[in-house]
Amino acid sequence: MEIIRIPRIMQDTCKKYLLKGRSIGLVPTMGALHEGHLSLVKRARTENDISAVSIFINPTQFGPSEDLDRYPRDVENDIKKLRAQEVDILFLPDNLLMYPKGFVTYVEVTAISGKLCGAFRPGHFRGVATVVAKLLNIASPTRAYFGQKDFQQTVVIRRMAKDLDLDVQIVVCPTIREQDGLAMSSRNLYLDSRQRQAAAAIYKCLSAASEALRSGTASSAETKKIMREMLAGEPLITNIEYASVYDTNTLDEADQMQGEVLLAVAVRMGEVRLIDNTVVNL
Ligand code: AMP
Repeated sequence: MEIIRIPRIMQDTCKKYLLKGRSIGLVPTMGALHEGHLSLVKRARTENDISAVSIFINPTQFGPSEDLDRYPRDVENDIKKLRAQEVDILFLPDNLLMYPKGFVTYVEVTAISGKLCGAFRPGHFRGVATVVAKLLNIASPTRAYFGQKDFQQTVVIRRMAKDLDLDVQIVVCPTIREQDGLAMSSRNLYLDSRQRQAAAAIYKCLSAASEALRSGTASSAETKKIMREMLAGEPLITNIEYASVYDTNTLDEADQMQGEVLLAVAVRMGEVRLIDNTVVNL
């Protein structure tokens, strides 16, 4: 595995592969890699000639009171895991090379970015869209891989790629879960053992709500009520930021119960913020 730290060198290396007719699959991450990340890596490897992973804790997507400083970092182990997957290129830039002095250009995917997580994390998706646009320009991947776990992120990135005519195929991969259903996340490392157990309530709530919708017995308002009641029933969940049924394209609350709908949740357990979702086909 080649480890590249300088954007210009990453760009030249990827261009050389593309000129030789090789396809490149890129998996952007912030590191502290788990099986969720590795599922994207495996898919990128099987679908492309060259697999590339980036690890970059992007400061522009964290708000001033968020967890940038304590975000889990474990590059040595990440490198081992990526070597075991036989990844071809690891792109590991530092802040100053990604955001050099004088950096003032940002990508804003308006409308979608202010909903759901965006309402609670102002500026988050501006940071995400900007860094993903940069990574796509640096690596020029044939395909870029993202997890459904961050559903809104996939909507924002798809929209950006379409609006800016980016020549890349955006691939969305299913959420990988722990045995009790909790979606794998680097932030799960923040949970103490009681919180970790209690966090299974999120998946239980999504499962119960999708059952209710599928059986045709619950309206969207009733489904939202079921979700909120189940989450409120777990004392270690200290705040429900949102929990409801949404349109998968606009991310507005859905009233039409047909086709695909999104069940999405964001809660806090003390300082820790957890999100999850599931798509139900009616
Ligand atoms: P992150 O390092 O949290 O920025 O995540 C990097 C990529 O991995 C994003 O596209 C995430 O959606 C994806 N990802 C994170 N957790 C999971 C999971 N449990 N299952 C599938 N993909 C995931």
